[in-house]
Amino acid sequence: MQPTNTLHLGNYLGALKNWVKMQDQMPCLFCVVDMHAITQDVGYAHAEELTRSTREVAAAYIAGGVDPTRSPIFNQGQVPEHGELAWIFNCVARLGWMDRMTQFKEKSGKHKERASVGLYTYPVLMAADILVYRATHVPVGEDQKQHLELARDIAAKFNNDFGVPDFFPQPEPVITGTGTRVMSLRDGSKKMSKSDESDNSRINLTDDADAIADKIRRAKTDPHPLPGTKEELAGRPEAENLLNIYAALSDQDRDAVIIQFAGQNFSTFKTALADLTVAKLGPITAEMRRLLADPAEIDRVLKAGAHKARAIATPIMDEVKKTVGFIT
Ligand code: AMP
Repeated sequence: MQPTNTLHLGNYLGALKNWVKMQDQMPCLFCVVDMHAITQDVGYAHAEELTRSTREVAAAYIAGGVDPTRSPIFNQGQVPEHGELAWIFNCVARLGWMDRMTQFKEKSGKHKERASVGLYTYPVLMAADILVYRATHVPVGEDQKQHLELARDIAAKFNNDFGVPDFFPQPEPVITGTGTRVMSLRDGSKKMSKSDESDNSRINLTDDADAIADKIRRAKTDPHPLPGTKEELAGRPEAENLLNIYAALSDQDRDAVIIQFAGQNFSTFKTALADLTVAKLGPITAEMRRLLADPAEIDRVLKAGAHKARAIATPIMDEVKKTVGFIT
């Protein structure tokens, strides 16, 4: 995750909650991508906020259930191999490939010439983040699938150009949180997002119980009672979103939640949803606050994680450098 602004319920249900489960299936590394975070906002005015936000994401990883003794947690800036490999990949990737990246077009907006070069080559750094560990599986949201495809193309071209057929694997996307796309509490057709102007549109992982309950109480709904079947949810994005959140937080199938609240009014359902959200998020946010009260301890976790990550990345980078022809 990028350390920019505050984390919200969408980040938890759509990403973190699922990542935590991956630890039981395969060895994992969890990175806070501070180098990606400076592609849009850079300068002294942002430096302090970047440090704060990096610690907050690390605290969320730990409080959400990532176990740093099993899975290294680190910030990208402490593992120089990411940047080293990204440079080599910049020379492997073709301009034509980069010009097709839709996220750059969205993020740079109308004034492409004013965007940083870093924003343009962001997907190349992402390829390096993955392949510097020869990672095989990457949990990504739908919006990152194109970047992962680029990572596969870069891996294949490197292997081909240097005659090392199996050097880099083809990383597979693991689309996490099946269906858990959390939408804004103010507009069910928009994703819950940290960039939304209205703080009432999202539940932040730093919100306390009162703020959570209040935001759910104010969440936009429609005038009808809750539906009895999933077909009746059509055209009711706000009702669908709140039911999805309930299902994801309670680890239930959405159909079961629809049956549970069929025909009830929103105020009853919102009370149940607020109680559930506070019960599930409360322990996580409390643990985050406890961790953030001791930044030096978080920094120690990040340093130890970076050390473990480098132990994997350094031998791979040594081979890359030899393959490219650098004297090491
Ligand atoms: P971001 O910092 O917005 O790039 O998001 C970090 C992670 O959270 C990514 O894996 C996103 O796919 C996920 N994420 C962000 N917003 C949402 C949302 N509203 N619903 C579900 N997942 C989300």
